Amino acid sequence: MVDLFADLVGQHEAVETLRRAAASAARVVAGESVPAGAMTHAWIFTGPPGSGRSVAARAFAAALECERDGIGCGECHGCHTALGRTHADVRFVVPEGLSIGVGEMRALVLRAASAPSGGRWQVVVIEDADRLTEQAGNALLKAIEEPPPRTVFLLCTPSTHPDDISVTIRSRCRVVPLRQPPADAVAEVLVRRDGIKPDVAAWAAAAAQGHVGRAKRLANDDEARARREAVLAVPRRLSSVGACFDAASALIAAAEAEAAAAVVESDSSERAALEQALGAGGTGRGAASAMRGAAGQLKDLERRQKSRATRSQRDALDRALVDLAGFYRDVLITKLQAPVPVVHTDTAQQSEAAADKWTAESTLRRLEAILACRDAIEQNVKPKIAVEAMMLSLWRG
Ligand SMILES: [Zn+2]
Repeated sequence: MVDLFADLVGQHEAVETLRRAAASAARVVAGESVPAGAMTHAWIFTGPPGSGRSVAARAFAAALECERDGIGCGECHGCHTALGRTHADVRFVVPEGLSIGVGEMRALVLRAASAPSGGRWQVVVIEDADRLTEQAGNALLKAIEEPPPRTVFLLCTPSTHPDDISVTIRSRCRVVPLRQPPADAVAEVLVRRDGIKPDVAAWAAAAAQGHVGRAKRLANDDEARARREAVLAVPRRLSSVGACFDAASALIAAAEAEAAAAVVESDSSERAALEQALGAGGTGRGAASAMRGAAGQLKDLERRQKSRATRSQRDALDRALVDLAGFYRDVLITKLQAPVPVVHTDTAQQSEAAADKWTAESTLRRLEAILACRDAIEQNVKPKIAVEAMMLSLWRG
């Protein structure tokens, strides 16, 4: 037997939840009664990129279609076709460049309401549910509010933040949070899947603190490595109040630059694709109303791109703060002689020197200052203010 959930590295709780639900779903199919809540019609898979959101959704879809009592054998026709994206009752929504529009969503909801041809479940997998337009989200919400008896919606989003998924959809779904996988598992993936050398993979996985995509970037991308080195140079630069403010400005500017680089390409290709799609309209009857619709679509795209840019900046700054926290954590575990490996092997000399100089208490205060800064930004404190306060605490200890 093949384990459908094998690719979900380090996600024991999520896998357990999904297995139990799939078993209950199989009992529903068999005509047995199950306790309320044992099976749910709408799910949201959240987690950072690389944590396996769509892998989890696809494995769960296969388990729902599994012909051997929903165990997800990985071998029957139901499992095979669901995994291979060819199952008649499993539909995948993957926006290519553009958002998921209302027309597409309405058609999907309509088809999903029909009885499953295989007699089990109609499954709709929405891989980037954070890219639903507002109207598409409303169309989906109606279906989730009154789900057909054998229809299951599986949504994947980075988080349940209102920027990613509407509060009303969220309130109707069961959330499966996925964590970042452990470093050794990430290294193994980099070697096996991406052909990265084992020593580079091990370094990058540790430095990325379990984030698969970031580990791959660190292994392959010189600029990503340079940005990380600049962040890790911060502790050495904090020698005066002025230096603290300089370091804060530099950190925020670097996060903005990284975010801009990340979104500029997809922004322009999305806009070009939309304009091309709209330009295909004629000048005959209905062209004027089509143009009014086009203006709305462009505005919608711009709004989403702006919100994605903000999120991207927040993510980049947060990654920098996580790197920085890793350094102070290294100082603390060195100081306490804790038997765990350091995160940043390449700044081990600096963290050892700092461990000689600082007390454990002052190191802990520095670490707490970084966590407080992350919390403050999460709660919408202006990043500049939060980061400046943090730098002063890091300097004074
Ligand atoms: Zn099966």
